[in-house]
Amino acid sequence: MLKVEHIVKYYGTHLAVDDLSFEVQDGEIFGLLGENGAGKTTTFRIIMGLLDATSGTVTLDGKKIDYSMTDKIGFVTEERSLLTKMTVKEQMLFYGRLKGMTEEKILQELDHWLERFQITDYKNRKIKELSKGNQQKIQFISAVINHPKLLILDEPFTGLDPINVQMFKEAIWDLQKEGASIIFSSHQMEHIELFCEKLAILVHGKAILEGYLSDIKKEYRKKNILLRGDVDLDEIKKIKGVEAITQKGEDYEIKISEEAVQKKVFQAVRKYDITKFVVEEASLNEIFIAKVGDFNGQ
Ligand code: ATP
Repeated sequence: MLKVEHIVKYYGTHLAVDDLSFEVQDGEIFGLLGENGAGKTTTFRIIMGLLDATSGTVTLDGKKIDYSMTDKIGFVTEERSLLTKMTVKEQMLFYGRLKGMTEEKILQELDHWLERFQITDYKNRKIKELSKGNQQKIQFISAVINHPKLLILDEPFTGLDPINVQMFKEAIWDLQKEGASIIFSSHQMEHIELFCEKLAILVHGKAILEGYLSDIKKEYRKKNILLRGDVDLDEIKKIKGVEAITQKGEDYEIKISEEAVQKKVFQAVRKYDITKFVVEEASLNEIFIAKVGDFNGQ
């Protein structure tokens, strides 16, 4: 289990991380969200022991993370940390040995992953000759070749087409099943919703929202109704608790202030010929924009 306790980081006088705490259990995927510059990369570097926190502690299975634990950690980042003049095999041998693996084990794992990602032909090719997406696969393999206890995925899907995104998703779920603690960071909220039961949203280094996604959604009382049919929009707009109506393809999306308002909307539209009436929780994207916007506006 990863435990981050009260970490604070100042760069000079600039406060980049402000008393951040969270836990990631074995087999759990935790989402770390935030606008550009919110402090995510700084937090990752502190967790990996690459940067000292001004104060606070980070432990993995009860032990402080330092250089001796690199063999337990994997990191996929947007900035490629590949040794591009090497071949795929040479780089894996290099990283694998750094992580304390035997040559035999490295090559066995490498063959497994190259096959899984359908790039077996690239084993002896120089990394710089690979496409961006295939380089991303090599970066992913470098991060997971040692079956890390802690895996940090910072925008892992950058540059991947939808088929390869699916391949990565399945690989991440398999690593979760193996019991890895995973931190996932992305600006694409649908990815966070798909993977993360628990999350924190950072604004200027501070967690303004933290907890289980289901609780966050429950607490955020606003909901959306998706409605299809020939209805009188002016009549709906007048209902107390209806905040906005927008057209989404063939549907109208009606934002309501709380669940109880749906009954009033339903009463108003039932006399029309409606073919769809669905009440949905707000998306994480909507909650993120509302919460971060509120905070910045304070
Ligand atoms: P992004 O989503 O754009 O990657 P981020 O959430 O990862 O952003 P950080 O890179 O952690 O954000 O930056 C947090 C804050 O700390 C920013 O205000 C940034 O300008 C500042 N910062 C980051 N690295 C340094 C550094 N080496 N020296 C001084 N300030 C820094």
